[in-house]
Amino acid sequence: MVTTRYDLSRSELAELLEGEPNYRVDQVWDGLHAQHREPAELTNVPKVLRNTIEELLPPALTPVREVKADNDKTIKQLWQLTDGYLVESVLMHYRDRSTVCVSSQAGCAMGCTFCATGQVGFDRHLTIGEIVEQVVRAAQRSGERRVSNVVFMGMGEPLANFDQVWPAVERIHDDLGIGARKITLSTVGVVPGIERLTQQALPVSLAVSLHSANDKTRNRIAPINRTYPLRKLAEALHSYRRAKNRRLSFEWAMMAGVNDNENAARELAAFARPFNAHVNLIPLNPTPGYSTPATDPESIIWFQDLLDSLGVNATIRTNRGTDIDAACGQLRAEQQVMLRGKSQRRKT
Ligand code: SAH
Ligand code: SF4
Repeated sequence: MVTTRYDLSRSELAELLEGEPNYRVDQVWDGLHAQHREPAELTNVPKVLRNTIEELLPPALTPVREVKADNDKTIKQLWQLTDGYLVESVLMHYRDRSTVCVSSQAGCAMGCTFCATGQVGFDRHLTIGEIVEQVVRAAQRSGERRVSNVVFMGMGEPLANFDQVWPAVERIHDDLGIGARKITLSTVGVVPGIERLTQQALPVSLAVSLHSANDKTRNRIAPINRTYPLRKLAEALHSYRRAKNRRLSFEWAMMAGVNDNENAARELAAFARPFNAHVNLIPLNPTPGYSTPATDPESIIWFQDLLDSLGVNATIRTNRGTDIDAACGQLRAEQQVMLRGKSQRRKT
């Protein structure tokens, strides 16, 4: 694998730039991270050093496509990695914040049936640098508007790639200056990953993609539930809450006839109440491999009201960029169909 621009730690960068004084290493480090600069823009360091950085540390991400929606408030970027795999990130501007949604893996091994990424399968883990660079690129793209939040809700299961994701989270916090609570890891329920997260000092936010609080249904739509059923997930989440005292949120993509009836709401309420968790209801985004339609908007409001009467706080999340396939993995899925047509899914 090629070592790319953000793969190195600060001490590894110092080693690479052997012979340069510490303050120079700091200038390069801060320029690349805090100021989101390209090597050529590091005008406070000598030109030869700029050229060395450019040469030794190529970018991890090559732009393939950019698609905008919601009056340019949603910008979806599709990237090609150095070995040809495609990943995507989405920059979303809101009134009070700008959020980038990043990928943690090329593909995903978790096989959730309703998810475009899950339908394609697993390619590989992303490296620290590939994750960090997505945030840097979004910050560059965002211009005057500071990227204030990072969510790991793009392609892949972040807690199945903990060894790369966690150092990337620390870098995003320490060196890109994004607050711990403004970094959200989203997991389908990888219990060993939740246990490792519980051990970490940085109090990031955790979202759990629950979608069903019934083992039989959840086994079907999120097969990881067969390995870590709801009881095990609940145990891990209780330990997490005890250690962190952080509020949890549960994601619930609303699928007609699957998880949107009264019984489903009662099961969800019983599961969520002990955690005092917040529930995000999301209309299911259509994907090529899953024919179940989304719950209709009136029924989503009915479901929300029912949860409210059962003592659970829920909000309905608008699906940003549905018209540009901004739900996770969908732009890539479409691009791969196009590339496969030309039989060149990968560069290699
Ligand atoms: N693997 C992690 C993070 C990436 S998926 C996880 O599953 O949490 C990010 C979010 O998108 C998850 O909540 C996931 O359930 C949701 N999602 C996936 N496919 C979707 C679809 N077709 N419609 C709506 N939400 C979807
Ligand atoms: Fe993977 Fe998350 Fe998609 Fe499930 S929903 S397949 S865990 S990316």
